[in-house]
Amino acid sequence: MTNILSGRDIAQKIIDENLKPRVEKLKKKSLPSTPIGGIQPKLVVILIGEHPASASYVKQKEKFAAQAGIISDVRRFDTSITEADVLKEIEGINNDDAIHGVIVQLPIPDHISVEKVLRKIDPRKDVDGFTPTNVGKLFLGEECLQSCTPKGIIMMLDSAGVKIEGKNAVVIGRSNIVGKPISGLLINRNATVTTCHRHTSNLDEHLKNADILVVAVGKPKFITGDKLKKGCVVIDVGINRQEDGTLCGDVDFESAKDVASLITPVPGGVGPMTVVSLIENTIKSAEA
Ligand code: NAD
Repeated sequence: MTNILSGRDIAQKIIDENLKPRVEKLKKKSLPSTPIGGIQPKLVVILIGEHPASASYVKQKEKFAAQAGIISDVRRFDTSITEADVLKEIEGINNDDAIHGVIVQLPIPDHISVEKVLRKIDPRKDVDGFTPTNVGKLFLGEECLQSCTPKGIIMMLDSAGVKIEGKNAVVIGRSNIVGKPISGLLINRNATVTTCHRHTSNLDEHLKNADILVVAVGKPKFITGDKLKKGCVVIDVGINRQEDGTLCGDVDFESAKDVASLITPVPGGVGPMTVVSLIENTIKSAEA
């Protein structure tokens, strides 16, 4: 009997029981700098161009922000914007005390350096957790704004009561935004972690050993049920658009669901947890 681990349900519970009350508390707080009363958490999203996937992610971010009671300000720019102007925009946001979090929705046009843009963000407002300061602190196990997808995965495992300590965790993918940071967070939680990637020669052997499997590859239905260890917990990060227009993960859900003890669906699994983590980071930044 397989259990579906619904990120959608867990995210909603976190918004209702944790985030909303924290925002209410902030709004009641009185500070000398806010004489009219209260702190209103505010997130700015910088969106450059018309990437269809980005537009749908941003919509979900706006929806969750509204539900939690925080302001989201989506600043849309044409692809012709220069790198200098993006950096100037970020500088203005860094200096604006009424803004607690900023993200630059990736991908951005090739003529703008992702590294330069991300490094310009004040680490205290880096609610995507992509700056070197926050990435470094994450690996050191220090308090920081953690990268949203890995943070969401850990929240989901905790919420489902999955024991991480002492388990064999296998992560497939080593990207800076998913594979590497989730490997770091799992190590910090005392799992034994194997990080696999495109040069891993014996992937199947690692899979057979996985109590917890995180797949972030970007290939539809790449992992099938016959490869899994019976009873493993499967976290499918992948979001792939199929020919019929529907979404699927990196795991073949149909064959994996009978082998796994817990499995995340796509959509409705890791996606909502990523967004709720972004909102949580923004509130955390406002509290700080
Ligand atoms: P990426 O392209 O940066 O990294 C993919 C990784 O997969 C690489 O490290 C590569 O080495 C590895 N890989 C590729 N082929 C492989 C193979 N044959 N065997 C083993 N490893 C292999 O991707 P990413 O940014 O980490 O995203 C991965 C997927 O997760 C994408 O589908 C993306 O859309 C999705 N994603 C979802 C969320 C979410 O919130 N649900 C967030 C971020 C990314």
